[in-house]
Amino acid sequence: MFERLDYPSVSLDEYSPFMDAAQLAELTGAAGALAGQRVMHLNSTAAGGGVAEILQSMVPFSNALGIPTERIVINPGRPEFFQVTKKIHNLLQGADGCLTPEELAVYFGCIDAVAEAMEAARLTADVWFLHDPQLLPLAQRLRGNGNGKAAWIWICHIDLTAPNASALASLLPLQRDYDRLIFSLPEYVPAGLPASPPVHLAPPAIDPLTAKNRPLSPEQAWDIVAAMGLDRRRPLITQVSRFDLWKDPWGVVDAYRAARRRIPGLQLALLGLSQAADDPEALEVLSTVRQHAGGDPDVHLFYDPSGLPASIDLVVNAFQVASMALLQKSTREGFGLTVTEGMWKGTPMIGGNVGGIRLQIEDGSSGYLVSSPEECAQRIIELAEDDERRARVGQAARESVRRRFLLPRLALDYLKVAAASRGVGVGN
Ligand code: UDP
Repeated sequence: MFERLDYPSVSLDEYSPFMDAAQLAELTGAAGALAGQRVMHLNSTAAGGGVAEILQSMVPFSNALGIPTERIVINPGRPEFFQVTKKIHNLLQGADGCLTPEELAVYFGCIDAVAEAMEAARLTADVWFLHDPQLLPLAQRLRGNGNGKAAWIWICHIDLTAPNASALASLLPLQRDYDRLIFSLPEYVPAGLPASPPVHLAPPAIDPLTAKNRPLSPEQAWDIVAAMGLDRRRPLITQVSRFDLWKDPWGVVDAYRAARRRIPGLQLALLGLSQAADDPEALEVLSTVRQHAGGDPDVHLFYDPSGLPASIDLVVNAFQVASMALLQKSTREGFGLTVTEGMWKGTPMIGGNVGGIRLQIEDGSSGYLVSSPEECAQRIIELAEDDERRARVGQAARESVRRRFLLPRLALDYLKVAAASRGVGVGN
């Protein structure tokens, strides 16, 4: 029903190159204010997708600050649960349809079963962070039994720009069981929320110390990428993403095709190696993308994590470094850690002009925002033909991530919300 994940400890010193003195002082101040409080993070997949990525770094970092922090992954053990929660995810991102009474019964029934197992294990904490809609009904079930005085915080990572109204109406009342809500962007905050619980904004961030984000030379990167069948003498563009409707992999193939008319030998990689346990639609999406690519030998679809020349993290890193440009052509994107990761490598990023991508890319300066495969192809061509432009955009991208989207900033955001919810001040 649930699993506790353990992590090796990390030291704050390792992060000092990525924090200035003021930020470090704020972090230690917030940690001091929260002394003695125990924190728990819950989500619904151990790996695959942005939330898992954030938590695997956030939990050890928070422990390094002296705050005892644990992570739990729930799994009700019924595949229907993830089918329903994926549907909820799609509806909240704007898909048509509605939740049937049977689907709602699966959703609430599975969360009930998880809650019972957690109660039986007598799990307690002072601050509970519950991530994404999969977990939403859990606070109501767990608030009693020793956790009544705890703070309950719901973090919504998805793109709520234009949610399906009926799904939102079914689920939104559940926010009343929380003390605080966190969204990634102001425009995601649903209209008509009552004044309480208070709403906070905390866009995600990446960990510069992971294998995925540490420095890799172009030669090291190409050794890995070439071992996976790409030709190092020809230009490469890549999209790193779960095979998911909202990531528009078909549009990526169309953009590649249009760009290739001007860039002979262009190669495309779509990297979806880390499928999430809570995403049952990936294989379906993959098979339609494969059809769409029509057997083009220069379109490389990677989805099988076995037999790789390096760990998945290193493979992702290598493609992000080796590519001439990176794409994230999403039509909805809560935040898009892949965008942050790519920008951190100093590789020009071309992203869909939506949600979290818009927050990260300043169009024409730290990357490009596009609204169609044609626009995307145009940007690919411009970048391929202009070395100076690639270097300039890549440098601006890296600097933007350094200032805004590294782990210490997000940890501080979370600690401030935790402190506010416990009624302890941490300054500003
Ligand atoms: N990812 C990965 N391997 C893959 C594809 C994706 O490790 O083959 C990672 C990617 O590097 C990023 C996360 O999965 O850290 C995806 O997060 P993002 O916020 O971009 O999208 P989400 O999957 O949460 O919608």
